[in-house]
Amino acid sequence: MTDEQFRLLGHELVDRIASLLASIRTHPVTPAESPEVVRAALAATRVLPEEGKDPMALLRDATGLLLEHSLFNGHPRFYGYITSSAAPIGMLADFLAAAVNANVGAWKLSPMATEMEAQVIRWLAQFIGYPADCGGLLLSGGNMANLTCFLAARAALSGWDVRKQGVAGGPRLCVYASAETHTWIQKATDLTGLGTEAIHWIDGRQPMDVDELERRYRQDIDQGYQPFLVVGSAGTVSTGAVDPLPELAGFCQEHRLWFHVDGAYGAFAAAVAGAPPDLKGLQSADSVAVDPHKWLYAPLEAGCALVRNSAALRDAFSYHPPYYNFDVEGVNYFDMGPQNSRGFRALKVWLSLQHAGASGYREMIQDDITLARYLYDSAAENPELEAITNHLSITTLRYVPGELRSSLGSQQTEDYLNHLNQRLLAAIENSGEAFISNAVIAGKYALRFCIVNFRASTGDIEAMPQLVVRLGREVHAELTERPGTRDLGRKESTA
Ligand SMILES: *Cc1c(COP(=O)(O)O)cnc(C)c1O
Repeated sequence: MTDEQFRLLGHELVDRIASLLASIRTHPVTPAESPEVVRAALAATRVLPEEGKDPMALLRDATGLLLEHSLFNGHPRFYGYITSSAAPIGMLADFLAAAVNANVGAWKLSPMATEMEAQVIRWLAQFIGYPADCGGLLLSGGNMANLTCFLAARAALSGWDVRKQGVAGGPRLCVYASAETHTWIQKATDLTGLGTEAIHWIDGRQPMDVDELERRYRQDIDQGYQPFLVVGSAGTVSTGAVDPLPELAGFCQEHRLWFHVDGAYGAFAAAVAGAPPDLKGLQSADSVAVDPHKWLYAPLEAGCALVRNSAALRDAFSYHPPYYNFDVEGVNYFDMGPQNSRGFRALKVWLSLQHAGASGYREMIQDDITLARYLYDSAAENPELEAITNHLSITTLRYVPGELRSSLGSQQTEDYLNHLNQRLLAAIENSGEAFISNAVIAGKYALRFCIVNFRASTGDIEAMPQLVVRLGREVHAELTERPGTRDLGRKESTA
């Protein structure tokens, strides 16, 4: 590519993206197409072209395909899962990062990029009230950040050389987590050879029940287990509930266990004045996982592991092969985590943290929490909606047809409502008017709104009860009139 071509292509691409951002509200949140339709648009089965092609045509083609066949999580009415809009400055950051193409595995290969990452780690820790002299690094997301902390805990507390001898080198290790913990915990126990049976689930009352934890711990000690880790959630993935983190911290201190906090979603709310006071307990954790690609609006991917004892990551990950000659004073991140070559994830976080500033982020996070609360209150006042939960910026609710109010709780009504709301979720998705996901709460299939979205306005949230009720009535009518015979596809529900 010539320099002039690069300039031309780059400008055109930036213009297309700027137009998308300016018009995003007018697009459906998702085209809700089938895999067949998307594959046909791509001509998915054609073979790799033998001859090269004109880059301008290729970029236009790629842009068209992506803009026409993508779900836009940057849409002001996207409230699904915990996926956020990308901050525009983060998009530019990734472009710049790719241009420098720093390999942030070794200081020597990425002097400024490594120092920027170290600064981002300090800033993230400061923002959530964690000691700023902690160790830490950026990873692909919450799963890898939690896994990295898990490995640091295992190396620190197993009591034998578990890195060398593996889990067979000592007593059976086990960990504690509540049933609401994200599935990273299964992956972590599986990948590290402990096996998922090493997770001793603490059930009982939600959030995590410390009396039940104590009981289970004593039983495990009697049975020859070696517990080493307690996982607390700072905002569960399903409902945003916060575990009693200060109590868990005290328990871990007393029994010399590693206290890990999964704050992938909720840890950033610790910076906000009105957040649940239990969040402050993450400040006593041995490690915390946070996800800048959630509430800090970094474009995917950006997760972050923070570890109180800055040597613990090196103790869990470093090897010194003879072919590496990186004995400089700076940090070599390949020594502190699972990756070797590493991309420059830090730049997008470094730029957006400064663009909005700490106060800007506090305000955006507070706004999301306020909107979720507002949605919950609106649902509670609406005779056709049942408000179910509200924690942090996640609200769950369900549609309840007026005539079923009086029979709520009966098995037949509950089964029907679960079916109805499941169909309603699909109808909302197919409408393209909003995107939400679901949660199952005490057997109830709930519609789940997770507001991690700096474009969502009060007006957008005000429209949600109406949307749910309008489509809920349609689905209910179709289910009761002609049960099981109609496909609630997009064309029908908008026709
Ligand atoms: C999102 C989330 C994860 C997983 O993070 P990824 O970035 O998707 O890997 C783990 N735990 C919690 C609480 C989360 O919200």
